[in-house]
Amino acid sequence: MSKIETFINDDYAALDVGDLEFYYGYESTYCSKHGHGSENGCEDCDDLEWCFVVFKKGKLIFKKRQSQLPVAANSDPVVFLLAGIGSYLLDKRRKK
Ligand SMILES: [Zn+2]
Repeated sequence: MSKIETFINDDYAALDVGDLEFYYGYESTYCSKHGHGSENGCEDCDDLEWCFVVFKKGKLIFKKRQSQLPVAANSDPVVFLLAGIGSYLLDKRRKK
């Protein structure tokens, strides 16, 4: 059976399930000024939005900005993580 691990803090929440990693928090961002995320070197901009991301075997396969998730902006990271996982599942179902 695949290993399941959770990681919760004030500024992030993550869930590892086998080779899938779900993450929401400060480490993954989107810069609305330049239109790209922390993966493309925009760590120093002021207007960074936190993102929900899914990695499979370490490779980024899904990303949603905070504002794209149906959650109040001041919610706990865990709530964003849950909404993100829901959003990922809906997206997967749509592609089938
Ligand atoms: Zn930027």
